[in-house]
Amino acid sequence: MSAVHRKSIAELRAGLRAGEFSSAELARAFLDRIARFDPELNAYITVTEEQALGAARAADQRIAAGTAGALEGVPLAHKDIFCTLGVKTSCASRMLANFIAPYDATVVQNLARAGAVMLGKTNMDEFAMGSSNETSWYGPVRNPWKLSAVPGGSSGGSAAAVAARLAPAATGTDTGGSIRQPAALCGVSGIKPTYGAVSRYGMIAFASSLDQAGPIAASAEDLAWLLAAMQGFDARDSTSLDRPVPDYPALLQSAGDLKGLRIGLPREYFGAGLDGAVGAAVHEAIKVWERLGAKLVDISLPNSDLAVPAYYVVAPAECSSNLARFDGVRFGYRCEQPRDLMDLYKRSRGEGFGAEVKRRIMIGTYVLSSGYYDAYYIKAQKLRRLISDDFARAFKEVDVIAGPTAPETAFSLGAKAQDPLTMYLSDIYTIAANLAGLPAMSIPCGFAGDLPVGVQLIGNYFDEARLLGVAHRYQQETDWHRRLPEAFA
Ligand code: GLN
Repeated sequence: MSAVHRKSIAELRAGLRAGEFSSAELARAFLDRIARFDPELNAYITVTEEQALGAARAADQRIAAGTAGALEGVPLAHKDIFCTLGVKTSCASRMLANFIAPYDATVVQNLARAGAVMLGKTNMDEFAMGSSNETSWYGPVRNPWKLSAVPGGSSGGSAAAVAARLAPAATGTDTGGSIRQPAALCGVSGIKPTYGAVSRYGMIAFASSLDQAGPIAASAEDLAWLLAAMQGFDARDSTSLDRPVPDYPALLQSAGDLKGLRIGLPREYFGAGLDGAVGAAVHEAIKVWERLGAKLVDISLPNSDLAVPAYYVVAPAECSSNLARFDGVRFGYRCEQPRDLMDLYKRSRGEGFGAEVKRRIMIGTYVLSSGYYDAYYIKAQKLRRLISDDFARAFKEVDVIAGPTAPETAFSLGAKAQDPLTMYLSDIYTIAANLAGLPAMSIPCGFAGDLPVGVQLIGNYFDEARLLGVAHRYQQETDWHRRLPEAFA
């Protein structure tokens, strides 16, 4: 049972099947780590100890009976944006601090069906709005590599939990970078699939045309196992894609040769604003792929600088509509002793939402208001098309696009909390993939000082298997993904 927290998903699967350890022992080991380390990290909002041990015992029985699912007995954590039957689902907001979900999100259901064991729900930015995990009603998460630094956001709890191995893997969501950016800042791997690949049913909506769920784990191989279980058509999500789910773990094995793979390097991703040491680590990673036979191609994504402005019109617009349902009437927070209906609405929303969420709702309401709709919202949708066209053109010349995930490493807690515009630039390299609906991932590729750096890979629609393969080949040559922060080793 020694050091199960250092094992990959494949090793956990093998160990469980070989009887080296039981799922109950595994769950216990991770629950013990959570009890020991989470007080300093704050990565979890809820730990579902009893439920985890019960699910683990059931998994052990299925393993013994020979009816094990693909992830049978493997523990994991869910971002607190996914509805979980009978378990608090807060979205890190005071608004939902009392909300017990009456059903499981499809992602939760799919992973449970594969046999995975939920350890708990992870901390995040309130309603997934943020890049630092500081907007959580439950307080900030700390970066396991440096406790005074942020883990990134919005899936910061999931990324920190995996980085400190308080879970072997966790789910996340990515509307503008919220899987990839925290993965980069915490030195772990994460993938945002093609829009529509993973069901959004039961995933609390932020910006529906951008939101996409995906896994965060130590390696691309681990991600392959998770994504294969998460993905799939769901009639309950109107944008779900009805396509067969590729056997990602099997496809990884054939990823071997990168000869002839064309990797595009967008010049706009390596310019001003990129930290020098981060850029250097990313270039080293690209050299590894070149050594493995890939061909590097300079490309241009000329509308890159429009991604952040377009996103900060579209995302708030959609959020202002999605968050209208939190009115103090049907569920969630309700103010004390409302005078009348208007007072109930105003105070419930005023007291239930935090500052960043309110800012987004106000911007969104403004850009959708008659008279401004064409000037802002329609304009942003047009920019979105230009950004998609940039990628379509690039993917005629290259197979994948590589660049930095984030412009810098993890910044100090509080450094940007009062400066939303600077905070918004944290996603300057990630947002375009959401606007276009493309799959993209981040894997660790070294350090700048003491802090991890992530390299981003963006693929064409439905090219997740190729992205995972390219990342996996890199991780066979390097060991950045195996490094653990000393205090959590
Ligand atoms: N940081 C971006 C935002 O604040 C993206 C968040 C996300 O992907 N959920 O909106």
